[in-house]
Amino acid sequence: MTATSAGANWAGNLNYRASRVVRPTSIDELREVLAGDGPFRVLGSRHSFNDIADTEGTLIETADLPVTIDASSAPGAVRIEGSPRYGELASALHAGGLALGNLASLPHISVAGAVATGTHGSGDRIGSLASAVRAIAFITATGESRTLSRGDADFAGAVVNLGALGVVTALELDVEPTYDVAQTVYERPSWDAVLAEYDAVTALGSSVSVFTTWASTDRADQLWVKRRLPVESDAAAASAALIARLGATEATVARHPLPGMVADACTAQLGEPGPWHERLPHFRLDFTPSAGEELQSEYLVPRADAVAALEAMRGLAAHIAPLLQVCEVRSVRADDLWLSPAYGTDVVGIHFTWKREQAAVEALLPTIEAALPETARPHWGKVFTVDADEVRRRYPRWADFAALRERFDPEGRFRNAYTARLGL
Ligand SMILES: Cc1cc2nc3c(=O)[nH]c(=O)nc-3n(C[C@H](O)[C@H](O)[C@H](O)COP(=O)(O)OP(=O)(O)OC[C@H]3O[C@@H](n4cnc5c(N)ncnc54)[C@H](O)[C@@H]3O)c2cc1C
Repeated sequence: MTATSAGANWAGNLNYRASRVVRPTSIDELREVLAGDGPFRVLGSRHSFNDIADTEGTLIETADLPVTIDASSAPGAVRIEGSPRYGELASALHAGGLALGNLASLPHISVAGAVATGTHGSGDRIGSLASAVRAIAFITATGESRTLSRGDADFAGAVVNLGALGVVTALELDVEPTYDVAQTVYERPSWDAVLAEYDAVTALGSSVSVFTTWASTDRADQLWVKRRLPVESDAAAASAALIARLGATEATVARHPLPGMVADACTAQLGEPGPWHERLPHFRLDFTPSAGEELQSEYLVPRADAVAALEAMRGLAAHIAPLLQVCEVRSVRADDLWLSPAYGTDVVGIHFTWKREQAAVEALLPTIEAALPETARPHWGKVFTVDADEVRRRYPRWADFAALRERFDPEGRFRNAYTARLGL
C-alpha cells in the first residue's frame, strides 16, 4: 500500500486537506486502514468540484484496489469489484456483447464515485447512472461487510450515498445486449421554438442535450441528438419536421460543445453509427482531458418546472454569459433512490461549465438559485450555494438517509465538512 500527499481534484479548484492519502491494494489492506484512526473519506477519480470527497483525516484512494468485471454470474447483470472507471467497464462490456443503458459526458469517471453523487447522462427514458445499480457492497467504518440488493429495506437509501456510508467495494449493475447509436448535431435552434416544444425536443433521440453559451437569447448554440439504432422511418420524418420548426441546421462537420473548439476530443458525429460507448459520452475515452480550467454547477429541476426554469436562465443570460464556457440541458428519468436528484420525479438538468473563477461564480450562484424553482436540486458533486435547510427540504427521504448514515457509521468516521454542513 502506498501513502502519498493528497494533491488536488481534477479541476484544480480544491487541494484536498487530508493529512494522508492511502492506496490500499487489497480488501485486507483496506480493513487495516479502517482499523486505524479516522476520520476517513474515499476518493474516486477526483472529478467532483467541491469538497464532497475531502477530509482532514485519511483519504482512501481506491485506484489500486484490484478490479474485476464479471458478467457471468447473473443474466442481465455485471458485477464490478474495485473502482473501475466507466470507460474501462464499457470497453469490457462491449467486448462481451453487453452494454449499459447510459453514460455520463465523460468516460473517465469512477463508477462508485458517479453512483455516490447521482451522476447522470441524458434521456427521457433513461435514469441516472445510480439507477442501474442492482446491488452495492460496503465495508463500513467498523470494518463490517454489508451488501444491499434492490428490494432490500435500505437499498434505495444506500446507493446515492455521498460517500458517507463507508467504502463501496463492489457494485452489481443492470446490463443489456450491446447496441449502436448515431449522433447528430444541429446548430442554432430557436429558443422560442425549443421551449414551445420542449417535450418533443428531448424526444428527438434516446439522449438529447441542448448546449448554449447564452451569448444569444434568441438561439441556442447546438442540439446534440444521440439516436439508438434502428430509428423507425416515421420517427425520422417527425424529427426532420421538428428540426425545421426549430430553425436549426444539421452540422456538416464535427462540433465541440464549446463553439470554435476543434472536435478532436469528441465522439463521432454526422450520424455515423457506432457502438453505444463510443457515442453516449460526448468525449472520447482515448482523449485525456486536460486538468480543469473549469468549474461546474448543475441544478436538477422537475420536468414540470423545466420550461419556466429555462426561461428564468434566459432572463439572466447577460449575468451568466461572461462567466460561462457552456450550459448544457439534459433530461433524466425519475428513480426511487432517496438522495438522487431525480428522486420521485423526471427532471431536467441545467448544467453550467464555468470559467475557473471560483469567487465570481460563487457570487453569481445565489442569483441563479433564487431564479430557479424551489424544487431544483443541486448536483452533489458540483459547486452550489443553496443553504443546507433548503437542500434537505428538497429531499423527502432526508431524515431516513440521516438515520441510515447513523446506523452505518455511528461514530461519524466518514463525516467531513461537506456532510457536516448538510447536518449529516
Ligand atoms: C469533466 C467532467 C464531466 C462531468 N460530466 C458529468 C455528467 O455528464 N453528468 C453528471 O451528472 N456529472 C458529471 N460530472 C460530475 C462527476 O460525475 C461527479 O462529480 C462524480 O461524483 C465524480 O466521480 P469521482 O469518482 O471522480 O468522485 P470523487 O470526486 O472522487 O468523489 C465523489 C464522491 O464519491 C465518493 N466515492 C468515490 N468512490 C467511492 C467508493 N468506492 N466508496 C464510497 N464512496 C466513494 C467520494 O467519497 C465522494 O463523496 C462531471 C465532472 C467532470 C470533471
